[in-house]
Amino acid sequence: MTGFVCDYSHAEPRVSPNFGPRPDGAKVDSLILHYTGMPTGEGAEARLCDTESSVSSHYIVHEDGRVVQMVREADRAWHAGQSFWRGCRDMNSCSIGIEIVNQGHDGGLPPFPDRQIEAVIALCRDILTRNIIVPERVLAHSDVAPGRKIDPGERFPWCELARSGVGHHIDPAPIQGGRFLASGDKGEPVEALQSMLALYGYDVEINALFDDQTCRVVEAFQRHFRQSLVDGVADRSTIETLHRLLSVLPSDLAMS
Ligand SMILES: [Zn+2]
Repeated sequence: MTGFVCDYSHAEPRVSPNFGPRPDGAKVDSLILHYTGMPTGEGAEARLCDTESSVSSHYIVHEDGRVVQMVREADRAWHAGQSFWRGCRDMNSCSIGIEIVNQGHDGGLPPFPDRQIEAVIALCRDILTRNIIVPERVLAHSDVAPGRKIDPGERFPWCELARSGVGHHIDPAPIQGGRFLASGDKGEPVEALQSMLALYGYDVEINALFDDQTCRVVEAFQRHFRQSLVDGVADRSTIETLHRLLSVLPSDLAMS
C-alpha cells in the first residue's frame, strides 16, 4: 500500500507495512493507549513503520500535538501483543491503538504536554464517533498486559480524558489506613478482590491466593485508576475505588 485517506481528518498519513486484516467478524470495540517509551518521537514513528520491528499502531501523537496515522482503522495493527480483556485474548483484532510520544518510565516519566493531551482527546473523541466503543473499553496497554507492560504509566491524565468524555474514570478513594491485602494473603477476601478485578475485565485467576499475577493486576489497576500510589497492595483506597468503578459502570457489562 502506498498511501491512504486518513480516517481522522487532522492526521497526516505515513503508511506502516506492519498490519493485517482483522479476522472475519472481528469488530472494533476497544481503544488502547500506549506511550512510545523511546528518546524521540521521530525514532518511535520510524520504528512503527519499519518492517523489521513487526510493531505498529493506528496512530502516533507527537509532543507538539501532531497526529500521524500509520494503519487504517479497518485493519489490524500490531500494538497490544499478548493481551487480554473480558475474555478476549487477542486485543489487536478488536482494538484501535494510539501511541503517545513520551519517554516513559525509563526516561523518568516526563509529563505529557497540554497540547499533546488536547490532541489525544480530540483524536479519541473522533475515533469514538466512528466506532462503537463503550467508555470502559478505553484502556491502557498495562490493563490488557499486566506484568508485561506498564504504559502509558501512572502520570497519564485519565481523569482529564474522562472529563472530556473519553474513558471511564472516577475520583479514587483517598488513601488511608485500615485493613489491606498483599502478597501471600489467602482466603475469601482475596477471592472477592480477584472476582471484582476479573469482573471489570482484568486477566486474573480467581484462586483465593494473593499471588504474583494478582499483585501485577492490582498494580495495573492502580496505574490507571489510583495513580498516586502504585505498589500492588490492595489497600482500602484501591478496593473502594474498584468497587465504586464497578458500581457506576456506564454500560451494561452483559452488553460488552
Ligand atoms: Zn504499549
